[in-house]
Amino acid sequence: MTNASIEVDFSDDIETDHPRCVHGPTLLFRSSTERFFACSACRDRQECDIYIPYEKRSSKASKRIIKQHAIEYKRFKEHIQTIQKNRVKFSKQSHIHYCSTCSLLFLEVNQSEHADHDYSESLTRRQYHQPCRYLLQPLEKKRTNAQFFFSQTFIDYFITKLLSQGSWDSIICIGCPTIFENLNRPEHKNKFRTYLLDYDHRLCSFYSSKRMLIYNMFNGHIFSKTKFFYGQFLFNTKNCLIVIDPPFGGFHRALAYSIDKLVSSRNITHNLILFNPYFLEKWISDAFPSLKMLDYKVEYTSNSSLHLCRGKKGSPVRMFTDICPSKCPPLDDVNYKYCFECNRYTLLTNQHCFQCQSCTSKDGLPYKHCLLCQRCVKSERVHCMKCNVCHLKDQCMTETTKRTCQMSDKEENRKKFKNK
Ligand SMILES: [Zn+2]
Ligand SMILES: [Zn+2]
Ligand SMILES: [Zn+2]
Ligand SMILES: [Zn+2]
Ligand SMILES: [Zn+2]
Ligand SMILES: [Zn+2]
Repeated sequence: MTNASIEVDFSDDIETDHPRCVHGPTLLFRSSTERFFACSACRDRQECDIYIPYEKRSSKASKRIIKQHAIEYKRFKEHIQTIQKNRVKFSKQSHIHYCSTCSLLFLEVNQSEHADHDYSESLTRRQYHQPCRYLLQPLEKKRTNAQFFFSQTFIDYFITKLLSQGSWDSIICIGCPTIFENLNRPEHKNKFRTYLLDYDHRLCSFYSSKRMLIYNMFNGHIFSKTKFFYGQFLFNTKNCLIVIDPPFGGFHRALAYSIDKLVSSRNITHNLILFNPYFLEKWISDAFPSLKMLDYKVEYTSNSSLHLCRGKKGSPVRMFTDICPSKCPPLDDVNYKYCFECNRYTLLTNQHCFQCQSCTSKDGLPYKHCLLCQRCVKSERVHCMKCNVCHLKDQCMTETTKRTCQMSDKEENRKKFKNK
């Protein structure tokens, strides 16, 4: 959660007691003034506008809204079923086409229906087995399902170096279809049992329910058939790695709730790797106290919008994990060094501070220790004797308060003048 004044209330059973939108059960939010149901996945009301005040949940108006959203939920489930049926029907055909406009597979006979659409003809094995790499464009909706596909260099590091450090029998990929499809490439296949949980319904064209489920990571809701996943996959899982790549605006506590729901009742030991920007560390530590941030800059494909807002610091995305940091090999040997004090790899630019007893840089740029603040701060900051903290030049809090005071003095004078 990134808003301190709003809490999520998990006291009810969300599956049975909460109204649903197209993203599954809503969450119950609590602020100092009200309690209300709203979408678990979208904070932007323009993307999903369900809003039911808790006290008025039985009113006529609320019931109408609940019913309307329930219809949308049902429609989405039916859409998934149609895609799944098509997949089965088409899997034995030799010429299958994929329409990006409709997000559907189709056959030669239906080509005229998609004549003006953006489609790929006669899918190759490669396109069929690695849809994210060869076929699908990342979804760009800002908060809900903004997708960023990992760069191939990062995926290769992740699979060949990082995953070989553990002894997991299974890997559950949540919201990271690129990692999932690479784990299933012939050279890695059979090393791990893998399963994908993702809200992107386009993927149902390529994977059966033995390999993936449509899933919302912010309420733990599953939209497609769970028989294989629960009865076979999770049933035979003893020690798994959960890899999760959530949209940046999501509620971390809701995420923690979903993960807990997935594994806690089943006696499965697990490790977690979560991808998020370094500046969300505070919220991640709040929801997942056992996760530590690694220094590695995680790169995504260049066509994602994230690439455009990277600046001089490079990618802001990091891995947060409960795997022992000393077991995580560096992304490369050029930009990272081993810190024997911290027992982990850190960026070359991240200097160990013996006062803080840690390599303290968060964004990868140099930090320095301030004896007066008793902690490390960004190197361009200077300790200010007026407000007694380190800050950038011309950003003194006392100066700004003084300025606003002066302003309001002027305002006062103007008022006095007017009143005369
Ligand atoms: Zn919604
Ligand atoms: Zn079409
Ligand atoms: Zn260190
Ligand atoms: Zn320090
Ligand atoms: Zn200072
Ligand atoms: Zn100051």
